[in-house]
Amino acid sequence: MAKPILVANWKNHPKSLREAGIILKGLGRSAPLYKRLATFIAVPFPYLDLVLTKARRFASVASQNMAPVLQGTHTGVVTPDILKSFGTKLTILGHSELRALGETDAAVSEKVRMAIRSGILPLVCVGERAVEEDGSHFEFVRQQLKASLAGLRKADANRLMIAYEPIWAIGKHASDALKPENLSESIIFIRKVLVEIFGRTLAEKVPILYGGSVEPAGVEALWKVGKVQGFLVGHASLRPNDFKAIAQALLSK
Ligand code: PEP
Repeated sequence: MAKPILVANWKNHPKSLREAGIILKGLGRSAPLYKRLATFIAVPFPYLDLVLTKARRFASVASQNMAPVLQGTHTGVVTPDILKSFGTKLTILGHSELRALGETDAAVSEKVRMAIRSGILPLVCVGERAVEEDGSHFEFVRQQLKASLAGLRKADANRLMIAYEPIWAIGKHASDALKPENLSESIIFIRKVLVEIFGRTLAEKVPILYGGSVEPAGVEALWKVGKVQGFLVGHASLRPNDFKAIAQALLSK
């Protein structure tokens, strides 16, 4: 069976290289645990090298964005070739915090295609702003997912991961996260949309993660009931003890 997947999303934290080193040292104390999972640490660009040198024995380097162009005359962007030279294996794309700044589905899909072409695994984020009583948020997720994956070939299903991150559940506490039974319902729905895009056999291969206030307190139930292949963890990934507890829960199935 494939290893459970654990992705740390540090967002724009911490505020110095020194603090980033301290967090990585803390994570390194549980290295054997992270090696039993597929662990990725997605950091701000200036910390990529630190993750490569200090954490590669137990986790893979990941970025939180990527330009959809190759090396050339592009001021101010970080291209896949540069990311790869820092050992980057995965990039988070279409995070709601970038979409809130104006990133469109079309821009996300361009990045997804470039990541796949460049050999970097795209972790494509989708999720509704709010739960609608009439269930119309499901349709929102369907359209966002289809538009974010536009232009992919069927075989690309083997080279991508999805993160379901309802915006209303991000950056809060365990009690504000999606309820496990609602998570499984959403994941079944997302899987159906993937079947529409890739066909049943290939769609089954796409890992789906959940993100949104994953903390040690609620993670076990989300893992046991939620039908996900892993988690994308924001604020709790900056606290080595919390991240360790989340990793332990993923091995408890
Ligand atoms: C995120 O924004 O990707 C995320 C998972 O954040 P948090 O865990 O802090 O809700």
